[in-house]
Amino acid sequence: MSDGAPASRVVIITGGSRGIGRATAIAAAKRGWRVVIGYVNNDAAARDTVAAIEASNGKALAVKCDVGSEADILALFKAADGFGPLGALVNNAGIVGQTERVENLGAERIERIMRINVTGSFLCAREAVKRMSAKHGGKGGVIVNLSSVAATLGSPNTYVDYAASKGAIDTLTVGLSQEVAAEGIRVVGIRPGLIDTDIHASGGDPDRHHRLSKTVPMQRVGTADEIANAIVWLMSDEASYVTGTTMNVSGGR
Ligand code: NAP
Repeated sequence: MSDGAPASRVVIITGGSRGIGRATAIAAAKRGWRVVIGYVNNDAAARDTVAAIEASNGKALAVKCDVGSEADILALFKAADGFGPLGALVNNAGIVGQTERVENLGAERIERIMRINVTGSFLCAREAVKRMSAKHGGKGGVIVNLSSVAATLGSPNTYVDYAASKGAIDTLTVGLSQEVAAEGIRVVGIRPGLIDTDIHASGGDPDRHHRLSKTVPMQRVGTADEIANAIVWLMSDEASYVTGTTMNVSGGR
């Protein structure tokens, strides 16, 4: 069953209950990873993701963890420590705000986006490095950061604050990868394009991705599975010489 996953090693996927995180959890379990998913509110979705993995004889654990809270992140990693040695982190949890121009953005909203999308990813990466780095006695591993093509397009008239948070993620990938490359850890990123998940509804525009699909060179939105497939490949030994880079998975957008 293992396809590139170090035997019995754990992957932590933040925001693993729905959307891209859920698809990644299921794909990683199929490749032999023991999966720990974080989620923030939706107990039923988290239970359902764990059940889907267990139904295929995979191992999974769901832990309520708001990545906007350092205490929650510490508790997530502690719970994962009890599940097996950490081999990978997928920094997937991320939010958008309602569609707005920059002139209408308040400090509270911007700080919330940055706390969840940026600070949360930094703190999770910190905890993963402490466990996986050879410098700390670890056996190495992989960190996959979820960016967005928004980081390069800027999301004008929509959510420039979100796009900027993903620009910060791209920089985290470059800088951290160089800090830990000689310690057995690869740090890589994915920039999804328009993907069919609930995130667009949470930004108050459920049809956004379908409406914009004709602007995609491939003329369609992507699926969560198409992002998950790229993530689990980056986590695998097939990507053993890949670090410090972020890959667009966006149909050419
Ligand atoms: P989604 O469908 O909205 O799912 C969000 C997931 O994150 C859920 O599991 C949710 O948990 C969890 N979550 C939300 N806020 C959280 C918090 N504060 N702490 C911990 N978990 C939290 O999102 P998605 O579309 O799969 O997006 C996943 C990642 O891909 C994000 O980083 C997003 O920015 C990025 N991305 C997505 C797209 C796209 O078009 N979908 C494009 C580019 C980049 P609950 O189930 O408990 O609510």
